[in-house]
Amino acid sequence: MIRINNLSYTYPDRTLALDGVDLSIEKGEFVALIGKNGCGKTTLVRHLNALLMPTSGSISVFGMDTTDTSNVWNIRQTVGMVFQNPQTQFVGTTLEEDVAFGPENLALPQNEIQERVDRSLREVDLLEYKTYSPKTLSGGQMQRAAIAGILAMEPQCIVLDEVTSMLDPQSRSNVLDTIAQLHQSGKTIIYVTQRIEEILPIADRIISMNNGRIEFVGTPKEYLASVESPIPAVTSLMRKLKAKGFDVNGNVFTVDDALLEITKATQVRDKNKTETSGNG
Ligand code: ADP
Repeated sequence: MIRINNLSYTYPDRTLALDGVDLSIEKGEFVALIGKNGCGKTTLVRHLNALLMPTSGSISVFGMDTTDTSNVWNIRQTVGMVFQNPQTQFVGTTLEEDVAFGPENLALPQNEIQERVDRSLREVDLLEYKTYSPKTLSGGQMQRAAIAGILAMEPQCIVLDEVTSMLDPQSRSNVLDTIAQLHQSGKTIIYVTQRIEEILPIADRIISMNNGRIEFVGTPKEYLASVESPIPAVTSLMRKLKAKGFDVNGNVFTVDDALLEITKATQVRDKNKTETSGNG
């Protein structure tokens, strides 16, 4: 779906933000892009729908080269972007007006627009709020509303750039559930984050960047097997237990799996104890 070849990008002030990036993203994948602040994640994803143009190298979306201006309209309909701050993404006075903005620009018939608005709001679980002002929503609802606005354009791929970074834990979890459902319904997801713990359980692939380059590409399991940090707190705990002699897997990343490992290890230990004391 997306092919990036030897992409480099230098900002007008001469900051080299991307330095020879090669990457392919397949249709239907859930890809997480991680890495420290300033490593080039946002610069990279802004190239995917032609918001930025390569200084050198190339990107194609379904075979459409992003530097060919005649492709930009089609590319932007194929790849939708959601940004960090939901408050800056609204154009309408009610939620439905806001979500209708994209389809209206496509000059679709009114009934088709209404269908898309309702369907998109239902997909993010906000249909009952459609007559509300976006300003009355919580941060998490706003972010889901921004996602609905993108869904109404029916893109094949959705890029989300640190969309949970300004949210409280409950809203974050709701937004992540919405994104996981969109992936299950067949959308290609490219998710930029610095929170490794939120992405390992749901991403197909982890892409880690450093200094404008891609440092690692692999499954969540491969990622954990290859790094000391950053890792989720639960993984760190398991590694500490393992170092203390507990027979647990040091690469689990969900609380449920950790609990399972600890329960198993404790049962084995208790059984050994009983046998030892039984033997006198
Ligand atoms: P990330 O998304 O991983 O935090 P960015 O893509 O925002 O990284 O930034 C990559 C590099 O480009 C950083 O050194 C950053 O300071 C620089 N940069 C980002 N935006 C601009 C800009 N508009 N002008 C100049 N330099 C920029």
